[in-house]
Amino acid sequence: MRLLVVEDDQDLNRQIAAALEKAGYAIDRAFDGEEGAFLGDTEAYDGVVLDVGLPKKDGVNVLVDWRKAGRTMPVLMLTARDRWGEKVAAFDAGADDYVTKPFHMEELLARLRALMRRAAGHASSVFACGPVTLDERAGKVAVSGAPVRLTSHEYRLLAYLMHHQGKVVSRAEIVEHLYDQDFDRDSNTIEVFVGRLRRKLGVDVIHTMRGLGYVLSAPADAPGTAQSPETA
Ligand code: CA
Repeated sequence: MRLLVVEDDQDLNRQIAAALEKAGYAIDRAFDGEEGAFLGDTEAYDGVVLDVGLPKKDGVNVLVDWRKAGRTMPVLMLTARDRWGEKVAAFDAGADDYVTKPFHMEELLARLRALMRRAAGHASSVFACGPVTLDERAGKVAVSGAPVRLTSHEYRLLAYLMHHQGKVVSRAEIVEHLYDQDFDRDSNTIEVFVGRLRRKLGVDVIHTMRGLGYVLSAPADAPGTAQSPETA
């Protein structure tokens, strides 16, 4: 695994790089935003530690440009204490996580590991299932690019199914993970929500597994559907 550290504070840069090297990662280092941006554009990293306050080009702009260019490597941002606006800007720019200075090196390492694990499964905040997309950052759902308006319950239901795509999700699990205690926990209600969600999406991606629950999968690989030769 190879990581990039972009931090203009020489001491901090050295400390982070040393800790990551000790943890077994290959490390590249940059000391300003331009150098960091260039490395991120031209090299393949499994993760990046990116300071927000950088000379020449600030960290948020570096990240915005990477994400625009389709670079999805996990990015952990370093933000200044008490500047909540930096954290918001970092997340809006596409950061996966942040730590506030000063931080414990162990925390930085733990967060990086978690980011890379997640990246192995899912690097982007946009989930897709066949023609259906769900953008978690924007909170938007579309079918074949056309926006679909969902209620908050329908959205949460779809988001949960997206996170568990291809797996059977029981009604009990849906109730447990999606709704607060005051919610009507009658499982028939779930059926009603699923029905509405299906109608709004208008495509066959939520499949009922009789007696088990539901599975979200693209129409072509619906459970129990044999792949016909002409689908290839
Ligand atoms: Ca700095």
